[in-house]
Order: sequence, then C-alpha cells, then structure tokens
Amino acid sequence: EKYIYSFAEGKKEMKQLLGGKGANLAEMKRLGLPVPDGFTLTTTCCLAYYENGKVFPDTLGTTIAESLKILEQQTHKGFGSLEAPLLISVRSGSVRSMPGMMDTILNIGLNDDTVKMLASQTGDKRFAYDCYRRLIQMFGNVVYSIPAEAFEIVLTHLKEQRGIQLDTELTGDDLHSLTIEYQHIFRQKTGRRFPQDPMQQLLLATQAVFNSWYNPRAITYRQLNNIDEHLGTAVTIQEMVFGNNGKNSGTGVCFTRNPSNGEKKLYGEFLLNAQGEDVVAGIRTPQPISDLAVTMPTIYTEFKRCAALLEQHYQEMQDIEFTIDNGQLYFLQTRNGKRTASAAIQILMDFLAEGLLTKEEVVDKVTFDMMEQALHPSFSEEELAEHSPFAIGLPASPGAAVGRIYFSAEAAQLASENDEAVILVRQETSPEDITGMIVSEAIITSRGGMTSHAAVVARGMGTPCVAGCHDLIINAEKQTLTHPSGQLKEGDWLAVDGSSGKIYTHVFELTQTAITPAFEQLMVLLTDMSDIDVRANADTATDLQTALYFGATGVGLTRTEHMFFAPERLIEMRRLILADTATAREIPLNKLQHFQTSDFEELFRCANERPLTIRLLDPPYHEFLPHDISEKNALAKALGISKTQLDQRLSELQESNPMMGHRGIRLAMSYPEIYKMQVTAIINSALVLEDEGLTVIPEIMIPLVGSVTELKWMRHYLETAITELLVEKNSHLTYKIGTMIEIPRACLTAHEIADTADFFSFGTNDLTQLVYGFSRDDVAKFLPLYLEKGLLPHDPFQTIDIDGVGQLMKQAITLAKKAQPQLKIGVCGELGGDPESVAYFHSIGVDYVSCSPFRVPLAKLALAKASI
Ligand code: PEP
Ligand code: MG
Repeated sequence: EKYIYSFAEGKKEMKQLLGGKGANLAEMKRLGLPVPDGFTLTTTCCLAYYENGKVFPDTLGTTIAESLKILEQQTHKGFGSLEAPLLISVRSGSVRSMPGMMDTILNIGLNDDTVKMLASQTGDKRFAYDCYRRLIQMFGNVVYSIPAEAFEIVLTHLKEQRGIQLDTELTGDDLHSLTIEYQHIFRQKTGRRFPQDPMQQLLLATQAVFNSWYNPRAITYRQLNNIDEHLGTAVTIQEMVFGNNGKNSGTGVCFTRNPSNGEKKLYGEFLLNAQGEDVVAGIRTPQPISDLAVTMPTIYTEFKRCAALLEQHYQEMQDIEFTIDNGQLYFLQTRNGKRTASAAIQILMDFLAEGLLTKEEVVDKVTFDMMEQALHPSFSEEELAEHSPFAIGLPASPGAAVGRIYFSAEAAQLASENDEAVILVRQETSPEDITGMIVSEAIITSRGGMTSHAAVVARGMGTPCVAGCHDLIINAEKQTLTHPSGQLKEGDWLAVDGSSGKIYTHVFELTQTAITPAFEQLMVLLTDMSDIDVRANADTATDLQTALYFGATGVGLTRTEHMFFAPERLIEMRRLILADTATAREIPLNKLQHFQTSDFEELFRCANERPLTIRLLDPPYHEFLPHDISEKNALAKALGISKTQLDQRLSELQESNPMMGHRGIRLAMSYPEIYKMQVTAIINSALVLEDEGLTVIPEIMIPLVGSVTELKWMRHYLETAITELLVEKNSHLTYKIGTMIEIPRACLTAHEIADTADFFSFGTNDLTQLVYGFSRDDVAKFLPLYLEKGLLPHDPFQTIDIDGVGQLMKQAITLAKKAQPQLKIGVCGELGGDPESVAYFHSIGVDYVSCSPFRVPLAKLALAKASI
C-alpha cells in the first residue's frame, strides 16, 4: 500500500487520502502557485498506525527517508546537513476541516549544530535561535505534553529582565540563552535530552501528530460536527519557509471575501517578522491585509492575483494561510472558508453574477442549514459545545431564543407587557393559549409531537419551539418545571434551541438573522427553477404577508378553527356548541358569520387574486370548551344556564378518541348549518372583492372525508346554499369545492372521490397518524425510544415515511389522476415544508406543496434541487 504522496502526485480530489491540507497544497502546486515542496502521509497510514497498536507500518521509515531524499534534491538542502540544513514542518490535516484541533510542529531539523549553521548562513543569530526555541517548545508540548506555560514563563521573565515588551526585541544572544533554558526544562520534564537527531525528531513528531487525532479537543470537535472518527488524519511534511526571517518577512491569514457579510474584499491580517503561532497567540496585534498594499505592494498584488485564481478554481470563498520569507511569497494552505449563512448566500449570488457559477451550481451549493440560519436566529456552535442541555425534546420549530419562563398565557402576556423576554412553558398548548404564544420568544411543551398544536402554530409564527419534552414535569399551578437535572420556577431564565430540540439554563448570545437583498435574489432564483408551486398555510393576513414576502404563490390551507378563539368569538362558538336546537344555534351562527366574513375579506384582499384554500371547521368540539371549574362556572353564568345543564351537555360531548371522533365532515353531518355559515361567509366576502374589481376564485376545502358518499352529500348541500346566494346576488362567481385527503380510505378510493372534488390536498398529519396508528399528540412519549432503538429512521410526522404513507399517497395520486387527469393535487400537512418530504412529493407528481410561511424558502430550495 502506498502511504506517501509527493505534492506532484496529489490533487484536490484526493482529500480523503491526503486530508484537506495535503490535497490542497498539491492542487496549489499544480496551479503554479508558490508552495514550498513536500509530501503527505496518507490517512490510511494513520489508520494502519492505529490498527498496528500505535506503531508505524513496517516500511514507513524507509519510505519517509526516500521521500526526504527527493525533498533534499528539490530544495538543494540536506536534512541535518551542516552546509545547507533543510528544516521541515510536520502538519496535521484531516479530511474535514478541524481548525486548530490537532497538532503541528515547525522547524524540525534544528539541533545544537544546525542552528549555528543557520545563524551563520543567514547572518542572523536572532532568527536562528528564535526558530530553535520555538521547535523545543512545540516539540516538548506536542510530543511530550509539556505545558506551553512552562516555557512561556521563562520567556516572559527574560523579557521583564530586559525591560522589553515584544519577542522581536530580544537579541540573538537572549534567544540563544533561552534555547539553553528551554532544553533544560525539556530535560527536567521528560528525563531525556532534547533529541539532536533530525530523523528522530521527524518520526516522533509524525507519531505525535497521528496521536493528536485522539486528543480530547479533537474528539469533542468531531462529536459536535458529526465527523467520523474512522477517517484518520494525514500528515504533511514540508520544507519550512520563515515568516520570522527579518523585516522583509511575515505571516498571515486571509479570507478571499468578508466571512461575516460576504463582501467582495480581501479580509485578513498579517504580522511582520513572525511565525504562524504568533498570530494566534495574540501577543502582537496583527495588521489588516490592506496594509500589505502599502508595506509590500508587489507582494500584495501577487497575493491578490493568486487569491482570485484560487477562488475561481475552487468556486468557493477561500481561507488562505501565507508566509513571506525574505520578500518571497508562499502559500501554505487554502480551504473553503467558514462563513455566516448570510455571507454564504451573498457570495453565491455574487459568484453567479460574476459567471463563476451557474444557476444549477448555486442551487446545489445552497444548503438547508444555510437557509435556516439566514431565517432564524441561532446560538453559536462554540458556545453550545461548552454547555450541556437541561432537557431535550423534539425540534418542533427552528430558531433560538432566550427568556424567562412563564406557565400560562396570561402570565406570559403580563410579563411581555413589562418588556420581558418570555418563554411559554405548557404541558401542551391549545388554541386558547394563542395570545400567550404570540408574545413569547419561544415555546416549550412536555407533550405532543411534531404536528401538535404548539408545533404547528409556532412554526407558522416563526417562533422557536421544543415540543414533547417528556422528561419535564410542568406544574402550572405551582409554577414549577421539574426535570431529573433540576427544578426551575416562574421567571427563571432558559435558552431554547428549536432547531435541535435542546433547552439550556445557560443564557446564550444570539446570532442575528439575515434576510438580505442577496437572500431575496436567491428566492427569485429558486422560484424560477422549481417546476411546482409553493403555497403557504396561513390563518391570518399577517401570516400570509410573511408567506408572500418569501414568494408563496397562494394559500394552500387556512385553518378556520383558529379564528374562533378571540374572547368575543369563543363565547359565541360555545353558545353554538351548547345549544340543543337549531333555533338556538341561529343567533351565534349569525354572529360568527359576521366575524368570518371580515376574516375572509381580509385574507382575499391580501391574497390579491392568488389562490386561497379555506378549510371548513375541522377539530372536535371539546377543543372549544372550558376545562377547569372556574371557567365552567363563568361560562354557565354568561350563557344563563345552570351548572348542571352545562355539565350534562359537556358529558354528552365527551369522546374517548376525539381525533378519531366527531370532527371534520362528520361533525358537519350533525350540524351542517356550521359549514353553511362558513361557506356563506366565504362567498359573501369574495363578492365584496369582486365588486371591487378583483377576480376571486374561492377554494373551499372539506376536512376528514373518508368516502365519496360523504363528500357527495356535503357538496350537494353546500352547492345548493351557494347557488341560492349567487342567484340572490345575481353573480356568476366561480368557486371550487375540494377535499383533504387524510384518511387512508380516501386514498384507497381516490378515483371515486376525484369525480366529486375540484381539488385534493393531502393532510399528511392525520394521514400519518392513521396509517401508522400513532396518535399525533402522544407520539412524543415513545418516539425517542423508537429512534434510539433504530426501529424508525426518523419521526414520520417530521419526514415522510416513504414506504408506508408515501406509497399510499403515490397510489392515491395515480388513481385520482386516472379518473380526473386535470385534478389539482397539493400537500398541506406539516411535511409540506420538510425538504426531504417535499422532494418525494415532487417525485410522485403533486402540483403544489403548502407549508408554514417560514418554511416556504426551504420548500422552494428542495424543489429547485429536485428539478436539477
Ligand atoms: C393534516 O392533517 O395534515 C392537516 C393539514 O390538517 P390538521 O393538521 O389541521 O389536522
Ligand atoms: Mg388533518
């Protein structure tokens, strides 16, 4: 097996074998950039070393010696030679960038003899001994774990003695005596002499760099970034060039563009007369890269040219390390630069404009994480790594927030009026909590899954939410939150990361979101490139405005039940539900119709001729009814009925499985006048807009249909009412009546239902619930265990279960399109905003997806990616 590759043999595609650094050094060499010569020990060599029980593979010593010979020829120097000593660096380099996590040793090849040679050759004793003392320190630290401070103390002491501030002010003699002291420390700490044999230095250094793959920093970093520990690290051995070689030398790092906002401008810094670690150590303040244009104009021009070349070649913003050795520029590393999401998007859009990337390449390079980060605030990864979570639940709505916890909507509202950042903590939320949810920075629930009320509403509002945090015991009365790891009370601080589902007691700093002009350009590009529409789930004009801003083409789902929870409406809803005769239902129905008409008018106006699908009432009645005694008493009083009457009616309405009970179209079968009221409100509001000159085609959607007979009956009933209305108003308004497809039977009989529906919209929340038989609201209790045991690859409410739910949808689409080729089919369940699911829906031929406003960009990205 070949364990060593010279730079001439490598290229950027060989990252897996040569590590990022090794592969890119080889690539830069191929591009003709000034790169010191060298060779790389492969990652497979590192793996063999570990397999061998941390012993080098047999032939490695010989191969290294052979490669060194070649390097000596290339550089016209000799390793350990007294005439022209070759000094080398031994540098780590993994496949995935792990900045600063592993070790590197510079100046290998120096000993008590070669250092003298270097001094006399360069005529600079200061420089030679500066290199030597650095070697002893780095070698001692990396190979023998001598703390760097052990050396630093001596250095600081010496500077104090001399009354100077900077290392560069030390004389050659100072540094010479320092190397003697350093050697002394080395001997004291290790019980042996600092190795004088360059080959021994090299082998020990190489081994130490391999070992640094498993140092604690590296292990933590890999865990944090999901980097496979079986990748191993490569080791690059390279001729030294010296940034500390006098006033005409220096070293620096530079991004080809600004990593925080993407601006097209070199962004970096350098230090004159210094080696790499001085920049990191922060003892001297580096100068901005633009200063180089003044101090070394020729080098600056050359640097700029090469930086642009690298960017063009890699088609990514680059993060470059360079050194200037006595007036000669060298490139020591290049890699794709880490940048904020907004910078990444800016850079991609600029690359597109500059012709560096095609539209397809841009879409390919934009990631979902990037998009999430641009849309929602987050905590910094570094800070997160330092704290363990207080509790973990489901990542129900992305983004991060910090605030004080409150246990009821009222308390949350009060606190927010006092300008507090509020986190609402509930066992589960119900529509009644909406006012508290609106004012909260984040929402936490102990029950409920990815499609629970809290999750759906939070996602709609773009508020971070951790749902189904089932280890939490929430006592709303005592206002406490108890977890095996501790107890919190009202007003305590929490940090919520809705993207990971983790909750922390540490108050993190937040990164800002970045909806920039470049982001907007990207949205236009994505819309251009996707071949099906993205609509939004929007219950209010505000939601719809957000969605339209992100480029939604209309509304795929308005859940009308959310309109019944403002106090003046809720009381009418309750009056309606509790009435036992048709006449008693009339008054509340009229009032509700009045409210609904203005709701719909506002929505239609905001939609401005874009399609708007309004779903008729869906949830079971009990969601609207009071649950605790004081609320019940108040209601009985308000309605002028006795408590016994109220209790009796409430017990009549009680159901064992409300989600599979009297809801959706079934409820409307019992009380059709509710749907009639809603439809009247829809048509009347559409007529108002028609009078204003707009073309409005209302899409009326019926939930929970299981058989064509139900739909036929309801359609006929509603059409009769609508026709009456239109005749009365002398209007020819067009409208559509469609259905949710969210019951397995509806999928299996889709061809029959298709004949009676103007459109279909898959409700993947209920469909998943019913296909799996997993209660949407209880799944969080056992889901973590299923995921842990590997019984499920992911939460099916979060990402489509292709084999089950997905197959059924595919079958339903085939059946429906055979019967009605023109039928429009959408998806409006929560999966409509999940990238992986959206790609699947695209593949089975849906005509549009609909999702919460803040997920519109993600859905678009998924569709654009699916279309290339
Ligand atoms: C669904 O079931 O997927 C759906 C969109 O409706 P809801 O979540 O309101 O039941
Ligand atoms: Mg549903």
